[in-house]
Parts: sequence; structure tokens; C-alpha cells
Amino acid sequence: MPKIFLLDVTNRDGVQTAHLGLAKIEKTIVNMYLNEMGVTQSEFGFPTTHHETNYLNANLELADMGVLCPIRLSGWLRAVKKDVEVAYQLVPKLKYLNLSISTSEQMLSGKFQGRMTRDDVIHSMTEATQAALQLGAVGVGVNAEDASRADVEFLIDFALAGKEAGAERFRYCDTLGYDSPFSIYDRIIKIAEASKMPIELHCHNDLGMAVANSISGAKAAIDAGCDVYINTTINGIGERSGNADLITVILAIKYANYFDNENYSFLENVNLKAAWKTCKYASYAFKVPIPITQPGVGANAFAHASGIHADGVIKDRKNYELYDYEELGRGEPELIVTGRQIVVGEYSGIRGFRNVYDNLEVEFKNEEEARKILELTRFANVEKQKPLVEEELLFIASYPEQARKILTLTP
Ligand SMILES: [Zn+2]
Repeated sequence: MPKIFLLDVTNRDGVQTAHLGLAKIEKTIVNMYLNEMGVTQSEFGFPTTHHETNYLNANLELADMGVLCPIRLSGWLRAVKKDVEVAYQLVPKLKYLNLSISTSEQMLSGKFQGRMTRDDVIHSMTEATQAALQLGAVGVGVNAEDASRADVEFLIDFALAGKEAGAERFRYCDTLGYDSPFSIYDRIIKIAEASKMPIELHCHNDLGMAVANSISGAKAAIDAGCDVYINTTINGIGERSGNADLITVILAIKYANYFDNENYSFLENVNLKAAWKTCKYASYAFKVPIPITQPGVGANAFAHASGIHADGVIKDRKNYELYDYEELGRGEPELIVTGRQIVVGEYSGIRGFRNVYDNLEVEFKNEEEARKILELTRFANVEKQKPLVEEELLFIASYPEQARKILTLTP
């Protein structure tokens, strides 16, 4: 029975969004939350980008330690052999990769300006795939950028060539959000039937259909008997109008009419209970509020005002709610400090620092250890330029050596 997996790209597509970004420690906490959510894979960054090197290596260390486990951490690269070689010099323990190259006529003529033919595209992708596998990759996905505007027959050739070179997944990128649920179904079923490869769906939201397209594309892959990896981002944050929202995708698979059938298996490990805190953390870290209408986690997702609705939902929540808020980890009271507050900043001293950690019930072995963690929290503040939150404070205290690496930037 085909399976649906989630492959989140918040730490790649999300952070390359105009006006937005995450500190490396924030990217690390995002990986921890994605792991807690039961997401199969996190596209955690750019292995050829030097300022990512320490963060990527430290996160792979956390994976080896069983902290970022069972989530798979994967890098994003151009499907170019020399980029793969640089990636393995900088991040030698990389196991999973996605290799990306443009595939539409528009891009071949408009972006490559005619310097690359379709054969050149396939050659660059297969050469990069083989290099990655030789250098230690165990799972490679090949990304067809602008696939929604590319010729389907060419995409099939591309997928088959990737498979032959050893790639395990084909990523269909609706780079411009051009597809509709109808077109993506027709295109994916052809590619999946011809290639018999696990299909990744990477959908953008320029026409407001990223989630619908992901679900429709997933159905096509399943109907063709193939596994499917839906690319998501937390709160839908991504380039321009964003990507398919992680929580909405999960809710749609679980609850949408018609999609809910017995012809596939959805990742058993998905833990929607972590949704509320995951989305709140991403909202804080990106400094982007969650829209009040956001499915599942928006402020109004379970709010009722009209007399008829309020009466109906009080009698039986199923009258006006499709799913329960507890399922998303909502409903617990949250503490907001309204009196004196001591936070950890880049100029904090040991007394205030100890007070903050006492409140988190973290004890240090001795004064030396406390001062070491204090120093790391100061550096974390310099990197983030906003007060550290509980998740980050606990992370630094629990994994100081990895935190030190993550905080080290050497231009
Ligand atoms: Zn994208």
C-alpha cells in the first residue's frame, strides 16, 4: 500500500523568503519540532553555503546522538557535480540530498539563455546524483524546477534518468504555483505510472492552491501505486505567497471529504499534538503572526460568535467543528508574565541568568558550568537579537557543545 510522507522545507524555502530569516539556533529548534511532529524529513539547509556549515554539521551530530531522530536531515543543492563536491567537503556526513535543476522551456531559454539543452540538464543531474552517491549519500531526490510548466514527456525522461543514476525520489516543483488540482493530477499520474518512483510534490501558493494541489498530486501518485512525499512549510511560510502549509496538509489528509479513503497509509508517527507549539514557535522566530483564519492553529479556528453556531457547538462540537482543538495541542492555559520579568540577554549577569533557569527547573552541576551556559546564551542573543525563549534555553543547557558550534560563524 503506498505511503504518504511529509518532507518539510521551512529551513530551506522558508528561510530564503524575502524579508524573512532564522538564526541558526532557531533553525535547530525548528528541526527539533519537526522531529516531534513526526515529519519524515527536514530539508535543513544549504550545504554549499559557508555560514550554514557549522549549523549543518552540529545538527547532523544531534542526529547521531539520537536527538534529531528519526527525522532525516537533507540538504538542498543545485544539480551540479562541483556543488556536490563542495557540499561533501564542508558537510561530510550528509546522508540525504535533493539536487535541483530547471526543466521548463521558459527556464532553458529565459534563465539559461540557451546555454543548456534538455540533454545537458539531464546530464548535469545524473552526474551530480552519481557523485553524491559516491561521496556517501544514501538518499537522493532529483528536483525538476518549474516542472508545472515543463513538458511531461521530458519530465518522465528526467525522472527515469535520475532513477537509473540511483536517485530514490523525483521532486515535481510547481515553482510558480501555476498548477491546479486538475492539472497536477493529470501530470503526476503520468509521471508516476511511467517512472514508478516515489514522487515529491513541491507546491507554491501563488494562486492559493498549494495545499489542494499537494493533495491532488498525492492522490495521483497513490493511484499509480507510488509513495509520495509532500513538501510543506510551517505556517505556509515560503517564497512569495508561500508553500503548502504543514498543518493544513495533515488536516486535509485526515479530514477532507473523498481524500479520506483506505487506499494509502499516512505516516503513523505524525503527532498533531505538537502543532500548536510548533506553529507558535515558528511565528515567533520568523516574526510573522499566524493569520487568525489559519486552519487548526489560527486564533479563530475554534471561535464561535453567532447565536446559532455557539448554541450548536455547545450542544455537540461536531455540529460546527470538523476536528477537535485538543488534537492540535490546544486548550491548555498559557502563562503570561504581567509583573516583573527577568530575561536572558547579551549583557546578562549570572544572577538574572540563574533566576531564569531556576524557573525552568534546570540545575547546574557547579558555578563553572553555569557560567559556561551563561556565555553561550549571551552569544545566542547576539545571533538572534531577541530574547531567548524556553525551548532555546533548554536546548543550550542540554547540548552546550552543539550549541557552541551552531553559534560559531567564521566568515
Ligand atoms: Zn519552493
